Parts: sequence; structure tokens; C-alpha cells
Amino acid sequence: MLLRKAATVLLFALLGLAIVASIVLYRTASVHYEIPDVSEVQYDDIPLNDAVERLSKAIQYQTVSTQEDREHYLSEFHAFIDFVRSSYPLIHDKLDLKIINNLTLLYKWEGSRPDLPASMMQGHYDVVPVEPGTHENWTHPPFEGVIADGFVWGRGAIDDKSGIFSYLEAVNYLLERGFEPERTVYLALNHDEEVGGRKGARKVADYLLDNEVEIEFLVDEGMPVAEKIMDGLEHPIAMIGVAEKGYLSIELEVNMEGGHSSMPPRETAIGVLSEAITNLKQQPMQGRIPGLLRETFEPLMPDLPFHYRMALANLWLFGGVIEDRLGYIPHTNAALRTTIAPTIFHAGIKENVLPQTANATINFRIHPNDNIREVLYYVQNTIDNDLIDLRVLDGAREPSPVTSTSSEAYQLMKHTIHEVFPAIPVAPAMFLAATDARHFTEVTDNLLRFRPIRARPDDRGRIHGTDERISVDNYGEMIAFYIRFIENTTSGLSATGLPGAQIAMP
Ligand SMILES: [Zn+2]
Repeated sequence: MLLRKAATVLLFALLGLAIVASIVLYRTASVHYEIPDVSEVQYDDIPLNDAVERLSKAIQYQTVSTQEDREHYLSEFHAFIDFVRSSYPLIHDKLDLKIINNLTLLYKWEGSRPDLPASMMQGHYDVVPVEPGTHENWTHPPFEGVIADGFVWGRGAIDDKSGIFSYLEAVNYLLERGFEPERTVYLALNHDEEVGGRKGARKVADYLLDNEVEIEFLVDEGMPVAEKIMDGLEHPIAMIGVAEKGYLSIELEVNMEGGHSSMPPRETAIGVLSEAITNLKQQPMQGRIPGLLRETFEPLMPDLPFHYRMALANLWLFGGVIEDRLGYIPHTNAALRTTIAPTIFHAGIKENVLPQTANATINFRIHPNDNIREVLYYVQNTIDNDLIDLRVLDGAREPSPVTSTSSEAYQLMKHTIHEVFPAIPVAPAMFLAATDARHFTEVTDNLLRFRPIRARPDDRGRIHGTDERISVDNYGEMIAFYIRFIENTTSGLSATGLPGAQIAMP
């Protein structure tokens, strides 16, 4: 009798297991993604040599943004503006230029249809400094704009002079061919993105708000066409940054009685503070694969190694496992959750004295699914110690809203990527750094952070690092992308949301 009962239980267990296994395998096998069938668009008459020459010159201006001593480089900023003016006479003849705060350039290319809200493209021409003592590590000097081995080398080659010059080239190309946009196009060349954008982009946003300019969408620097974003994944993917993380720094402080270190009490200021930081590290904020991160992986899933594909197709079962896995890799962890980074720790002045005060600063990058209030609540609960005072430091900001992937602007950008970069999938993603786009959340709902730059894993270290460079071929693709994007977004959109044959060069 007992044996029969055991056999029945075993049978049901096996049956259950078989059902789970078949669901898992079925869902894994159903993973499917098709890149839309879009005809490739090419422009054979882009004057690439001249364009590359101009980019090379642009890099030679040391438009360096530093927190202190801005004056030092000021003449370079002014010389750079003169260079832009003299390089594109047609743009300066046909577009209105407004100079904001002496250094940021805002162009308006008036469209023929005032009923359409405008489009906007922006980038920045300031660059980060080259760290002292690292100049000689560069293959070519950082401010000479050397063209060699199929690349343009130098600070700003990726971030972001190739960005702004490729759209200037695109506008110039279209103007030379008599193109007239229906939708008004704004172009901004901001001057202080690398130090927060408060004097450039913020003022441009204020100007647009004050003048009640309607902006349909804004394109800014951001995510690239990335190659090998994960081990075992060969296929490149173009990612459009639809959201940006929030920012919060909290200071934790412990004040206790100090004293001689020969008879330490059970609790010391350093001990209490260290324990709090350890608790935060051991209990990170919740990861979030469903939603944006899952969407980022979607087009890649068919190419993923089997175990990843199976896990992502079955988050109901493997959500926890894959979250752990992604949590180990810094850049996937940052896309997964609000991150916690202790950045400053102060305590103690002498080896035999117990300090009365210990304080630490923790920097949080807030996932769009969380907010500042929730992070504070989490910190208080996780630390759970009345001896610790919390103070929110200046500069906190909420995560950005998430741009809808069903917006026309997103769909048109996706379509344009397919036209210019055939056979490369496109996915929405979270931009993990900060851009000037964050100043525009009141200006438009549709913020698209994307540059058509082909980025390999080793390029990540070149941005703000050594040997920043852009390939000449890729620069040609960037210009083609912006030409096509302006063409595709110039008019009222067709009912399908995608440009049809009605858009032709005049
Ligand atoms: Zn940048």
C-alpha cells in the first residue's frame, strides 16, 4: 500500500517535471526575431575626404571642459566657433544661428510647414581633458586629429565631435542639393556637457520653453551600434537609449564618543559605518529584467548561447538565476538595477585615538523603475541603525521618463538604422551615463540617445580614455544616417508611422 502511494507520488513528480521541461523547451524554441525587410539606402556622393578633413581640424581645437580654470581654454572655444562658421558657409547662409551664453550654438532650419512640431538634434563640442602624464600613451597625439590606418584619432573623435560634425555634414549635403525640410529642424552644439550642461543645454531648453517652441523629438548622443556586448554573442546590435538613470548621493554620518584605543567599546564610529556599507552591498536593490532590459535582449535572443536563451525565454523560472549572473558584470548590473557605490570615506586622525565622527558618501544611479524616495526608504531600512544620520547631497535627480518605443520618432529612427545598417537589429536600451538630454524632459517626451558609431568592447575604454578614434568608413555611415534621418522625419508622417515613397529628394 505504502509502496503504491510512493509510486504514485513519484509518477506525479515526474509528470510535473516533464510538463515544466516541455514548457521551458517550447518557450526556448519559440524564440524568434526577424529584422524588418527594409531596402538599403546608400549615398555614393558624400564628400567623405573633405568631411574627414573637417573632423580632423575640429579635433585640433582644445575645447576642454574642466570644473576649474575654464578661462584657460576659452580662446579655443571661440576659435572653434569661428572654424564651424567658416567650414559651412551654406549652413550659415540658410539657417538662423542663435548663440546662447556666448558659446553654445543653436541653429534653426525653418521648415515649410509651421503646423508640424520641430525636430531637434544636439551634441556637444567640449571634451574631457587628457589626464596629465598619459599623453605619451596615445598612438597619435590627442589634439592633432591625425588621420591614419583608416581612423581619425584624437580627443572628441567619438565623444562627441564626430556626432555634431556628422549632422552638420548631413545638413550641408542636403542644402547643397536644394533640400527644403517641411518640419523645422533645430541643431544644437552645446559647450559644457562634460561639466553638467547647465550653461549650455539647460539654457537651450529654457530658451525653447520660454518661446513655446514645440519639439516632437530630440536626438542626442548616447548608445552605439555595439559589437560583442556579451560573451558568445557575435552579432552587432544598434541600441537606442530611451532612458537615463537618476542620480543621488547620500552622506552617512556617525557621531559617537571617542576615546583611547586601548579599551575600545563594543561599537565604534568606524565599525558602525562599515557595517552599514556592508549591509548595503550585501542587499542590493532589486534587479529588473522584465521591461526595458528584456526588450534590449529581445532581438539578440536567437543568437544567444542556449543557456542564456533558455533562461531569458523563461524568466518565470530562471529570473533569479539570470539576475545573479547579470549582476556580476558591472555594465549589465548597472542596466539591471539602481547601483550603489561608496565613493568617499572619512574617519580618524591618529592611530591610537578612536574617532568621534565617521562619514561616508554613497553614490546611487537610480533605475527608471525606482525613484529618490524609494532609494531613501531602502537605505534607511537596510541600514536600520539610529546611530547613523543620513543627508541627501545637492545634485540629486530622478531617473528620466522612458521614451515610448511606439512613438513615431522611435520607429523612424529604428527604420533609418535598418536602411543604413542592414541586417543589424535595433533595440531600446538604458543609457548608463548622463547626457545633455536630461535637460529636455519638459521640452519633449521623445528623447532618443543614439549615435551610429560602431563600438567594439575595447572602444569603451577609449571614450574619456586613451586612443579615442573613429573609423573613416564609420564616419561615412554616420553622415549617411543623419541625411536619411532628416529625410525620413521631415514631413508629416504617413498613417503607418513610417515614411513612404512620398519622401523623395526634390
Ligand atoms: Zn558626450
